[in-house]
Amino acid sequence: MSLALPAHPRAPEVTGADIVLTGDRPTGPLHLGHYAGSLANRLRLQRLCRQFVLIADLQALTDNADDPGRVARNVMEVALDYLAIGLDPARSAIVLQSAVPEMAELTMLYLNLVTVARLERNPTVRDEIRQRGFARDLPAGFLCYPVSQAADITAVAATLVPVGADQAPMLEQTVEIVRALNRLAGATVLPEPRILLSTTPRLPGLDGQGKASKSAGNAIDLRDDADTVRTKIRRMCTDPGHLRVEDPGQVEGNVVFAYLDAFDPEPAAVAELKRRYRAGGLPDMAVKRRLEEVLQALLVPIRQRRAAFARDPGEVRAILRRGTEAAREQAARTLEAVRGVFGLVRP
Ligand code: ATP
Ligand code: MG
Repeated sequence: MSLALPAHPRAPEVTGADIVLTGDRPTGPLHLGHYAGSLANRLRLQRLCRQFVLIADLQALTDNADDPGRVARNVMEVALDYLAIGLDPARSAIVLQSAVPEMAELTMLYLNLVTVARLERNPTVRDEIRQRGFARDLPAGFLCYPVSQAADITAVAATLVPVGADQAPMLEQTVEIVRALNRLAGATVLPEPRILLSTTPRLPGLDGQGKASKSAGNAIDLRDDADTVRTKIRRMCTDPGHLRVEDPGQVEGNVVFAYLDAFDPEPAAVAELKRRYRAGGLPDMAVKRRLEEVLQALLVPIRQRRAAFARDPGEVRAILRRGTEAAREQAARTLEAVRGVFGLVRP
């Protein structure tokens, strides 16, 4: 069973001249939310244009500085996940954020173009501050992480950013920073990046509470073995009002159907299941069995590729080194241009 996720209907045109940058925080293994929201698009984009995929370890530290080991451990896990899904290092540079000092320097410069009030208004930052229970102890780095994302995106002169819906406010902020910088320069020094959303811009968590996320631990991970996937699907919540098999069931807001919509390569089969579920008489277990079939088919080859790369950590590190070098080359050019706008000279 192959998975062909179409681009979002309102997705911008992609051309060979586009440069793509996107990434993930190494706070845990990647999960199906990443796959549906961004990774599937990256697989498509790597065939069309130049792509940089960033392991954002500095950003991960902004809310994990009390446990840096968590971030350090997950750098390799995320790199393995990338290779496991089929990101090809010859087409997609895999980049370690902390090894590109140009990105940190750009962040420092862009901080002058953003107000604290604007950062506090960013809806995703607000949500995440609430989720993490930050009050006066809010790390300054966490509040400012949208600025570091602007630095990452512009460092490689990216024009297209394939992400989940939670990232839309980050892209807006990046565009504002780009415009402020260009205004200051009186010229187009940096391109304005566009967002690319998938048809599943926000995959729900297994508990139906919010989006699937590493921090909430409510996701099916790409590296989960077959038994774990089965157990997680069994525990997935469905329609709480569907008490007896013969009762009509609700499809909207039902997590199992949300996953089928995202991953089942046969939409006609899903439509038929929905019809029977709504009519009553279709047990939750029957829908879950279909989902298990679909997800195991997707995950088996991913697991196999992951195991093969995991046997050769030296090769994975070399891939990271090469990708990081490629990003640094481009980032050095961007940094010189931005330093120039701020009138900075090298002594
Ligand atoms: P954390 O909880 O540490 O923030 P996360 O699960 O939110 O982890 P990120 O590394 O923050 O993952 O996000 C990486 C990319 O995956 C982003 O483009 C984000 O929009 C996308 N993404 C994350 N979760 C989902 C989801 N549930 N549905 C769709 N896209 C998602
Ligand atoms: Mg996140």
